[in-house]
Formats: sequence, structure tokens, C-alpha cells
Amino acid sequence: MSHILHRNLRQVPPTAVSADGIRMRDKAGRVYIDASGGAAVSSLGHGHPDVIAAMHRQIDRCAYAHTAFFTTDAAEELADRLIAGAPHDIGGVYLVSSGAEAMETALKLARQYWVEAGEPQRRFMARRQSCHGNTLGALAVGGDERRRKAFAPLLIDTVRINACYEYRGRAARQSVDDYTAGLLDELETRILEAGPENIIAFVAEPVVGATGGAIPPTPGYFQGVRDICDRYRILFIADEVMCGMGRTGTMYAIEQDGVAPDIIAIAKGLGAGYQPIGAVLAHQTIVDRLRGGSGVFQHGHTCIGHPVAAAAALEVQKVIERDDLLARVRSRGATLRRMLGDVFGTHEHVGDIRGRGLLLALEFVQDRATKAPFAPERKLHAAIKAKAMENGLMVYPMGGTIDGQVGDHVLLAPPFIATAADLSEIVSRLADAVEVALKQ
Ligand code: PLP
Repeated sequence: MSHILHRNLRQVPPTAVSADGIRMRDKAGRVYIDASGGAAVSSLGHGHPDVIAAMHRQIDRCAYAHTAFFTTDAAEELADRLIAGAPHDIGGVYLVSSGAEAMETALKLARQYWVEAGEPQRRFMARRQSCHGNTLGALAVGGDERRRKAFAPLLIDTVRINACYEYRGRAARQSVDDYTAGLLDELETRILEAGPENIIAFVAEPVVGATGGAIPPTPGYFQGVRDICDRYRILFIADEVMCGMGRTGTMYAIEQDGVAPDIIAIAKGLGAGYQPIGAVLAHQTIVDRLRGGSGVFQHGHTCIGHPVAAAAALEVQKVIERDDLLARVRSRGATLRRMLGDVFGTHEHVGDIRGRGLLLALEFVQDRATKAPFAPERKLHAAIKAKAMENGLMVYPMGGTIDGQVGDHVLLAPPFIATAADLSEIVSRLADAVEVALKQ
């Protein structure tokens, strides 16, 4: 038995030995198509020569520099590039090593912003069915009940509202606009109940990733959120750890909603798996308040601004631009969606096909008409994952789609470099895994 505490403590996963493009190989010689980019990470696929060369150059020059002593060209250049491509008035970048670290940083930055304004009484507001990471702060604002349960007494109190989840939330005869207006009413009502002067920020994933399965917002939802946050002087934090960095066809998912957040957290696709890296982008007014106030952000980790991670992320960004990969995400995303529609569009156990760009999901139901989910004991998502792995296919299934307990979905987040033939192979292997899992 392995000494590593693996995700499943009773099972050791296959040993990965090599990876190239969209394929990974294990020690037994099996080959897997990476249709989920791990967990929406490997946007450039595996073994990209330009990224590896950039990392080698940085390692040879300077493999590590603690940020209490130095900055590096790689970190500075990455920050400049992120600012140049960010929604307007983003004025500062804080580099970290993961998505949860990015979210912790975002929360602490927002808190310190208000503390320095003499308003320390404020707390966070966030949505149900959201994932913001597994550290205690991120878990506290996260709305994934399954992940939160064991740690609930340790989590800071957060004001909670419903997610924008049209497939489940919109009533049969309700228009999309009415549904959206209802959600925004709820947001405003909860702010007024809590007192606007008591809220630090509203936290949301522009496109919900793992917890709900690629749930995009309804049209106008985030514009409404932005208006309400502005009206009541509340910050808006967008968690783009999964949906950002081009995954939805624009560098930031929220761009498509025509909204600029005050703080954006990114990770996963930022380093595309070549190095662990995340970042927080902050509005100029936040930077100005801290710079003009205490002059220090009370935060820090040993490996922030890591030069090799920064060099890898910088090269990833350059490749995305040079190879016009955002356009490719949009076209391949449309292709994959069409293929999923062809195979699963009328499937009796697929209730919804949704997402943006190359972040797409299928939600499974026992009955399409009533949208009744499968019994959670059946663990359909786990059966699909196991069958897909047997078929040489990595997908990202999850249970508890609806409320942390019931519901099953499968998330697809293939590398941006996947060809139409790759996508067709992915859909065909997935269809096979789904049929076998449903028969079990
Ligand atoms: N935020 C979102 C939206 C995520 O999907 C995740 C991870 O899946 C995180 C934060 C946490 O990122 P990490 O696993 O890198 O800590």
C-alpha cells in the first residue's frame, strides 16, 4: 500500500508515467485521453515544448527567490501581462500557488480593504452550490455542503443566497428574465437584511465549475449583481479559478457578461499544470487604499511569486495569444457542444447539456420530464468515471449537483489544442461509459 494519503484512502490510482498532447500514459501502458484537463487545468495539453523550454531557462537562471528579498523579471512580466489583458481598472496582481490560495488572498485583501477604511464589521456573502477551494476561508464562502459538513463549526459565518442555476431554478412557465430578476431580488433583500454596511463582498464563480457542472449565468445576471454591489458599496469578487484563463473562450469568463469585478481569482489554466500557480487581480482603488494606508498587505506564503511558476504561466499566456487559442476554444467549444447534442440531446437520462467554450457538462436525470435525479446511493457519477477510465478517457464527474447530496453530472474541459477528431473520440468513449454505467 502507498504511504501517500490519496484522495480515496482505500484505493491507489494508476501511476502516470508520461503525457503528451491530450494523452496520458500509466505504468501498465494504458493510454488515456485527457478530456477534463485534469480538473480544467491542462489547457495547452501535456508536454508543450515552449512552456517546458521557458521553465528550463528560468531554472537555469534562478530557480527560487523569496519575495521578502527579491522580485524577478518573470513575475513582473507575468503581472504586466495579466493587467494588460484584465477587465478595466485592475491595478494589482498578487501571485500565489493554487486556487484556494488565490481565494484566501482575495478574501483577505477584501477584508483589509474595509478594515483600512475603518469598517471591520463587514462579512462575506456568497452563493449555494459553489466551490471556492478547500482551505478554511475558501471553504467558508464556498457553498458545497458535502465539502463543508465536517468543518462547519470552524468556518466563518457567510451570508448565503441561491445560485443562478436555470435548469433547476427556473419554473416551467417562468421567463428567463423573471427568473434572473428573482435571483437579483433575493441578493438585494439579503443585503438589506444583513445591512449593506456589514458586507465585505459578494463572491461568485461566473461559470460554476465542479460543484454544479459548468453552469453559466443567465443573461443580465452579473450586470444585475454589479449594479447592486455598486449601489450598496459592496465589492464583487469573481472566482475564475476554473472558468478563467481562456477556458470559456475569452480570457476571463465574466468578460462575456460585460462586467468588471473588483477582485478576480485565477489559477488552474494560468499555469496550465506546468507549475502550481494562481493569482489575484485587484481593482486600482483597492491597491490605492492599501498603498496609501498601512502600505502593507498582511499576507504572504513562502512560494508566492515563484519564478519558475511565473515563467511557465507567462509562456502559457504567450502561446495562447500567438496560436490564437481563444478563437479555437470558441470554435472547438461549439463543435463539442454540437457533438454532445447529437449523442445526448435526446437521451432519456440526460436532462441538460450546458456550459461555455470548452467548459461543458451533462447533467443526468432519472426522468427527463420531472428532472428527478438518480438516487445518490447509486453513485452514477462514480460509475461513469470508472467506466470512462476503463475506456481510456479522463472526465470530471461529480455527485451532489443539485444540493450537495443528490444529482450527477460529468464535466468536460479538454485542452484547447484538441482537434475535432479528438473531440469526436471523447464523445464516443463517454457515450459508451455512460451506457455501461446506466446499465449497472
Ligand atoms: N475555485 C474554484 C472555482 C475551483 O474550481 C477550485 C478547484 O477546483 C478552487 C477555487 C480551488 O483551487 P485549488 O484546487 O487549486 O486550490
